[in-house]
Amino acid sequence: MRCLMNIPYVDLAEQHAPIKERLLEAVSNVLDHGKFVLGDEVAEFEHRFAQLCGVSYAVGLNSGTDALILALRALDIGPGDEVITVANSFVSSASCIVQVGAKPVFVDVREDYLIDPGLMEDAITRQTKAILPVHWTGRPADMAAIGAIAKRHKLAVIEDSAQAVSAEYAGHKVGSFGDAGCFSLHPLKTLNSCGDGGILTTNNKEMYEKILALRDNGFHQRHECIYWNNNSRLDTIHAAMLLVKLDYLEAWTEARRANAHFYQENLHHLAQVQVPPVEENMRAVYHTFIIQADRRDELQAFLAKREIGTKVHYAVPIHLQPMASNLGYTKGSLPITEQLSRRVLSLPVSQTLQPAMLEYVVNTIKDFYQI
Ligand SMILES: *Cc1c(COP(=O)(O)O)cnc(C)c1O
Repeated sequence: MRCLMNIPYVDLAEQHAPIKERLLEAVSNVLDHGKFVLGDEVAEFEHRFAQLCGVSYAVGLNSGTDALILALRALDIGPGDEVITVANSFVSSASCIVQVGAKPVFVDVREDYLIDPGLMEDAITRQTKAILPVHWTGRPADMAAIGAIAKRHKLAVIEDSAQAVSAEYAGHKVGSFGDAGCFSLHPLKTLNSCGDGGILTTNNKEMYEKILALRDNGFHQRHECIYWNNNSRLDTIHAAMLLVKLDYLEAWTEARRANAHFYQENLHHLAQVQVPPVEENMRAVYHTFIIQADRRDELQAFLAKREIGTKVHYAVPIHLQPMASNLGYTKGSLPITEQLSRRVLSLPVSQTLQPAMLEYVVNTIKDFYQI
């Protein structure tokens, strides 16, 4: 009998243990200088993040959800407008559209879980203002095809890059293709804050200046407010810790990619399991490693009994959630998205996993299918 190992889906304490001293020192500095709102660390983090993405500007925000909302708002997208996106994502990818008063229009995805540009043109109407592709799982969407369609129809592009920091498509980082790139710094993302956080990237000066004002209750200078908006600032204390973490991002990303490739190599020959396709012309960063599995729920329960944590992203696609019932979609509207929701399973892929743990996961999956 194989020995039992406990493999949590993620272990944030384990992630932080090796860098705890540096994080505490960063926090201590902020406590000493006391500029808790828009302190120097925020600007420094924005500067380094923009450099990382190869863009001109970045603005630190409250959350990835806010980044998406503010990008739409800055593009004056609102009531009467439509935005094309996907339904196999975290709800924010569509709720941001509803929150500015516009209508999300869902198109189906390809077998690689990403938006299918081939279906986009049929979804475009005179109300369409933007395309909001999601770099789902940390795998870049087909930005060449999306860019060409956006250009042809004069549409804005907002990249939901929440899961994809440092991913590359055709040699360029995600977040550098669209009018705006929207990143989440949520604790479960690879570059993670110790709390909520987000950041928006852009090459457009006008967008940059609008976002700076929007995140600050609409003030563009002292005593002059030009937009009705809430506050959505990244806290200095978070920026200070994120600056420390930026030093490790590349190593963490490479470790996740190595873990993913181990799974790909060791699972691709199983008839009951489908692994993500080989990367071509891109660098995927594996925020999640999602397989498609026969008897998914049984497999998940089997793994749980052997103390392997997994997740389902997501069991209910956005268009079938209760709050979306007035949008006119029904079961069968998005066949591939819906099929994926019944088959997907996210395996642990964190940078903290040891080789023996990955082997244990692979062997346990094989045990389940009795191979
Ligand atoms: C995490 C996530 C968001 C939202 O980010 P928050 O920082 O939690 O608001 C948006 N889109 C996708 C695809 C995400 O995974």
